[in-house]
Amino acid sequence: MNQSMTSIERVFAAIHLQTPDRVPVDLHNFQPAAFTSGLPMDQVLRDGELLAQAMLDAWREFGHDMILLENGTACNAQACGVEVIYRSDAAPATHTPVLKRIEDIGRLAVPDPETTFPMCEILKAARILVREIGDRVWICARADQGPMDLASQVYGMSDLMVDMAMGEKDEYIFQLLDYCRQVTTRYALALMQTGAHSTSIGEPVAGPDVISPRMYRKYAWRFEKQMVDDLKNHGIILHNHICGNTVPILEDFIQTGAQVLEVDHKTDPHKAKAAAGGRTCLLGNLDTSLLASGTPDQVDAACRELIEVWKPGSGFILGPGCALGSTTPAENIHTLVESAKKYGVY
Ligand SMILES: [Zn+2]
Repeated sequence: MNQSMTSIERVFAAIHLQTPDRVPVDLHNFQPAAFTSGLPMDQVLRDGELLAQAMLDAWREFGHDMILLENGTACNAQACGVEVIYRSDAAPATHTPVLKRIEDIGRLAVPDPETTFPMCEILKAARILVREIGDRVWICARADQGPMDLASQVYGMSDLMVDMAMGEKDEYIFQLLDYCRQVTTRYALALMQTGAHSTSIGEPVAGPDVISPRMYRKYAWRFEKQMVDDLKNHGIILHNHICGNTVPILEDFIQTGAQVLEVDHKTDPHKAKAAAGGRTCLLGNLDTSLLASGTPDQVDAACRELIEVWKPGSGFILGPGCALGSTTPAENIHTLVESAKKYGVY
């Protein structure tokens, strides 16, 4: 038994499909970290120094191997001009789209992450985390929403769905998706310049729970693929996060070439392992509802079961399938982190 790796070596091995000493653990915990900081969440999630402090405090408490840094799902949208509402007990939410007519897409400029709120605050948080603990823990500085998801925020979900279903404005839809790809890629590059170890995109709208696999292939896939290729050319590791049951698009999802696939609990772990095993690293996929309201024994059992399926052959980072809810008990988070040490040794 070899428990000699650092967190960074452990995560690196898992992502590169090499055998680590044990299964590494990530926490998708910006909400509980902010919620338990003692300050209103809306204050923490718009201030890079407060956010970094909350993430640091959580890491000191739980000792996970990978930090996922973000402030929700509205960062890129807000930088693009979408109206966003900040809440005291949950992540910010997009409200009013910025693009009234899709024909006006050419008028939107790609924001400069260094000077545009809130991207500049997340960059600040990433720099602090890298400076303080970047040699001891893997920092995934998340580039927020991917092309498809950001498009639904910039233009509005229902308008985008109608236009995709009608199929008459494809030229503009592709222009919108390409704009969103540029926004997220520029932000990802800026985040990686802070010294973070990897970055990610969230594409919940691209999942089969929202659009059909045919629509995913027609609209979302090639923009995700281009992002992966562009970032790979810079030697950057990208995680792709799609919520819901991704089984119908697993092969496409893998074919984007993203080095880490973040899947949630609705994706059958056996099917995911069969598709991704030996090809791509899987991250997840514990049920966040169980982590929020289950007992520590139930959490322990779920972790053990998942480790049995996903541990063989490496390519596995244990963690929640999606963002942890604000009030997830610390006891359950400790149980999750400790389970990898109990059951995840190679
Ligand atoms: Zn998710």
